[in-house]
Amino acid sequence: MGCVQDSIRVISPADGALLAELPDAGAAGAEEAVGRARAAAPRWAALPLSGRAEALRRFRDAVLDAPQVVETLIRESGKPRHEAEGTDVLYLCELIRFAISAARRALRPETRRPFLFMLKRTRLLRRPLGVVGVIGPWNFPILNNAADCVFPLIAGNTVVLKPSEVTPLTSLALAEIWRRAGNDPDVFQVVVGRGETGSALVDRVDGVMFTGSVATGRKVAEQAGRRLIPCVTELGGKSPLLVLAGADLERAAEAAAWSSFLHSGQACVRTERIYVEEAVAERFEAMLAERVKALRQRAPSLDAAAAQDLGSVTFARQLEVAERQLRDAVEKGARVLTGGRRAGREGLFFEPTVLAGADHSMEVMREETFGPMVPVMRVKDAEEALALANQSHLGLNATVFGPERRARALAERLESGLVIVNDVMVNYLVVEAPMGGWKASGLGVRHGWEGIRQWTKGTAITEAWPPLAPLDRFLSRRLAFPYDPKVLRLIRRATRLLYGRGWKRKLGPMP
Ligand code: NDP
Repeated sequence: MGCVQDSIRVISPADGALLAELPDAGAAGAEEAVGRARAAAPRWAALPLSGRAEALRRFRDAVLDAPQVVETLIRESGKPRHEAEGTDVLYLCELIRFAISAARRALRPETRRPFLFMLKRTRLLRRPLGVVGVIGPWNFPILNNAADCVFPLIAGNTVVLKPSEVTPLTSLALAEIWRRAGNDPDVFQVVVGRGETGSALVDRVDGVMFTGSVATGRKVAEQAGRRLIPCVTELGGKSPLLVLAGADLERAAEAAAWSSFLHSGQACVRTERIYVEEAVAERFEAMLAERVKALRQRAPSLDAAAAQDLGSVTFARQLEVAERQLRDAVEKGARVLTGGRRAGREGLFFEPTVLAGADHSMEVMREETFGPMVPVMRVKDAEEALALANQSHLGLNATVFGPERRARALAERLESGLVIVNDVMVNYLVVEAPMGGWKASGLGVRHGWEGIRQWTKGTAITEAWPPLAPLDRFLSRRLAFPYDPKVLRLIRRATRLLYGRGWKRKLGPMP
């Protein structure tokens, strides 16, 4: 019996055309790539930071000069050109800029002065983990795939990326651009395969970055846990958007439409559910429905001037989820304000759908939709909105629209890694701030200098401060064998002096 894996067929979601047929790298492919990455790791880590930064700059410039990247991304994901450039490419460029500017702070050695062993000094060094595996989803073929390789790379790791089998072509194009930009091809590699390939990667690398579903994220984290390697996960979201009385309703409706239907709703930080205060609910719902009805949905065009807001869904399963949740919601009393069915054309199209009269008995208010549908629930006041918003097993992103002070006060009580006030989603591009999901939305952080530092391991080197080295040596020797009761008396006295109440009394009350 042969054990060759079925090949991977990449299909255009907009029209069902076969874009490519690729071999599945399988576990053997993952092993080979990690082997090459491991061999390249010492020479990449040995480059000065400026050398790694230069390689990333060359890569970024080459991406911007390569129109085929955006074209491939549009073809395999079905998203509009506006989003391919305005989310994926823009994010990659911003992340490279930030990585280069923040790496010095994240990676520079620090000296800490111990309180107890005051004759010593400790130097903290940050060193790369080695080989990092990045496992990406299908919805953002650059943003959550190649862009997630930037922080591990600047920190001195080599990277093997396994994109989703649904949208692997953009990642392959980027690996080729990396090489053509004059960079070492073993430093950033792409292996195409299914879940088993991803799993084989987790078994071999020294750290993992995973973006995708909660279920697979758990498996990856368990596997990484067994190997005791660092694992960062960005998983599902059920991001609430709260609309308070007194909010700018025009702006709230416009922002709700955009954040619900960007990439046909297939984004982890998108608006998944809306709570609106009773007093303004009717006007808000009408405004939202009007805006969503006006959205221009069509097959993605490569033409930058094309009149288009929405493309197709990328992943067929998202249509089934939307249809199942829609049936359940309508059976339980929700009303369809607009949309509610597959668009009558070839490809994976579903009309952008707004539901009113939603409540928490409906699956659409509790479970991730990740598709072109958003439910609106009326609440009596902001406290009810807050309680319901926090009633979720997920906590990735949240939005509040309302008068500034009320909105800000509510934002501080939301159980979420990210919150944005009187705007939507652009907080994902605030790469200066570390972001990480609460609850089942993930582990670890992306962004911030902390997001770079997590791809390193620390070594704390402690030694005597040179001018006081003889005294330090004398004291250190007194601590060791053979134990001397006189030294114990000294330790006891020092302990009371440094930490005891008598000493505090002398110092006065602590501030
Ligand atoms: P998965 O979480 O299953 O897949 C994400 C990535 O993990 C893919 O590259 C996948 O490969 C890979 N993978 C699958 N199994 C394993 C494994 N055992 N070990 C290592 N890697 C593995 O997401 P799906 O693509 O199936 O999407 C399912 C749901 O996830 C969506 O309906 C949506 O709700 C959510 N999702 C969330 C995203 C987010 O941004 N947070 C992004 C995408 C999806 P392959 O694709 O080849 O199977």
